Amino acid sequence: MKNIRNRQLFEQAVKVIPGGVNSPVRAFKSVGADPIFIDKAKGAVLTDADGNRYIDYCLSWGPMILGHADKAVLDEVKKAMARGTSYGIPTALETTLAEMIVEAVDSIEKVRLVSSGTEAVMTAIRLARGATGRDNVVKFTGCYHGHVDHLLVQAGSGLTTLGAPSSPGVPADFAKHTLLAPYNDLGAVEKLFEAHGPTIAAVILEPVAGNMGVICAKKAFLKGLRALCDKHGSLLIFDEVITGFRAGYGGVQKMLGVKADLTTLGKIIGGGFPIGAIGGQAAIMRHLSPEGSVYQAGTLSGNPVCVAAGIATLRELKETNPYPHLEAMTLHLCTQIGEIFKAEGVPHTINRIGSMFTVFFNTGAVTDYASALKCDTQRYAAYFRQMLEAGVYLPPSQFEANFLSTAHTEAQLNKTLAAVKKLSL
Ligand SMILES: *Cc1c(COP(=O)(O)O)cnc(C)c1O
Repeated sequence: MKNIRNRQLFEQAVKVIPGGVNSPVRAFKSVGADPIFIDKAKGAVLTDADGNRYIDYCLSWGPMILGHADKAVLDEVKKAMARGTSYGIPTALETTLAEMIVEAVDSIEKVRLVSSGTEAVMTAIRLARGATGRDNVVKFTGCYHGHVDHLLVQAGSGLTTLGAPSSPGVPADFAKHTLLAPYNDLGAVEKLFEAHGPTIAAVILEPVAGNMGVICAKKAFLKGLRALCDKHGSLLIFDEVITGFRAGYGGVQKMLGVKADLTTLGKIIGGGFPIGAIGGQAAIMRHLSPEGSVYQAGTLSGNPVCVAAGIATLRELKETNPYPHLEAMTLHLCTQIGEIFKAEGVPHTINRIGSMFTVFFNTGAVTDYASALKCDTQRYAAYFRQMLEAGVYLPPSQFEANFLSTAHTEAQLNKTLAAVKKLSL
């Protein structure tokens, strides 16, 4: 692997950008390497500034489910751009994307489009608080909901501990409204409701966690949360920014048959452009301004180019239903990786749903943040670096999801498996 231009570009970047990157994990710190700089991408393949090519299993952290530079998406984007790139005035495209989301996600009757997943979650929380007149929010350790102030609160907490901020710059006064529970632990949430029930505006979670590595919620856990929220008049928020249109058309809630009150979306619905969405029942969504008094706004919300990319992506997913094929490819890849590691005696656990998965370097089941943290992150770092050297780009952290796209081919999977066989971990 040539690494001359990548190095130069990184040296140049650190002089003008904090850490040289515009989002922290891109810095490769946890895998003990310096970042590569991408020149272009097509299908499942990234090409960096030195001309190295990589089979991509990160896919811009999830959005590129059709692969990079998909023709149908690019055509719609070009058409939209030729008409002007932003008006700050409504377009028919926004209604089309909203209709597609409403049709796909059973619990959504109305949608507000925003410009990122973070913004969607921020709005969902404000809306839940505004609609219920309550301040507290239950979140789960290890779940990531964007860099929203009061949700940057995570580990190191007991069952009923009030949240402490996990980043400087987040006032303790904000974080104290965040109540923490371990993922998949209904008993812990029951205790929180016993102690704080009338103050809890919402319970928010990733119905399949992607941001501590892939961890599936147990169905009984989700059903229990639904029942607790109903009993106490709190709202259940599913953060499906990763899982929406990834696990299946319509998201995890459709697969598991548990309905959220509010759902946040992002990533795939923008087809590689900045987007976010918040949706739910009309009776809750009506609290958003201008219909209601919970304020939310955005200069570039519903941007026509982003929306065109989203529509093209969803249309292709709906028309071609690639989900069974994506799942079969991913199952094959995970099974084979598992067999290789088993033969080599490398301790591992692979969690997968649909076309997202994580290879955890540990032995026991990974069901929550505490069990995820038991992984050997040094071994992951070695895995990442050796795979990169072999032309395979994985997420640069143990605690992230791998994704497949419709552009991945059998030959690419075989090449990936050949690289896994050659690892020395
Ligand atoms: C990526 C992600 C977000 C944040 O979305 P951004 O577009 O990066 O702001 C929020 N929630 C979940 C579950 C995510 O995976």
